[in-house]
Amino acid sequence: MKKNREFHTFRGYQLQKEEQRQMTASMEDYLEMIYRLSKNEGYVRVQQLADHLHVQAPSVTKIVQKLAAAGLLDYQKYGLIQLTEKGKTMGSFLLERHMVIENFLRIIGVDEELILKDTEMIEHHLSTNAVQKIKLLFQFMRLNPEILALFQQYTAGEDE
Ligand code: CA
Repeated sequence: MKKNREFHTFRGYQLQKEEQRQMTASMEDYLEMIYRLSKNEGYVRVQQLADHLHVQAPSVTKIVQKLAAAGLLDYQKYGLIQLTEKGKTMGSFLLERHMVIENFLRIIGVDEELILKDTEMIEHHLSTNAVQKIKLLFQFMRLNPEILALFQQYTAGEDE
């Protein structure tokens, strides 16, 4: 039981703390996306990444080089991007952080068209401690649907 209540990626939580000062918001966005895209194949191409992030390949290359310098991925010019073990741990933490916030906003009834944009803004600024507590609250709501139902009743008709 205790284990379920901890972060799945505790190492990612620690890494995040250690590297917080060096990671910019865009580095985090890129790493999260690289992790999402390379999860199955084990790699991702610069162009693929550019398409998904809606940016030009040269800007991708810039950030990818920074992530490589931080030891989070391996990258050769015109080559493939592959996460290192550290990059995978960090990437999975960033993806989980994103999902925790997104799921939480959904469960409290935030408008569907706002959820993604809000998540993208909030995720870089919350402390890992706050993310962890939000995750616990989300899990608690899932485990106690009657409490969630009470909350939904309470907020029904309260929009705007
Ligand atoms: Ca994100």
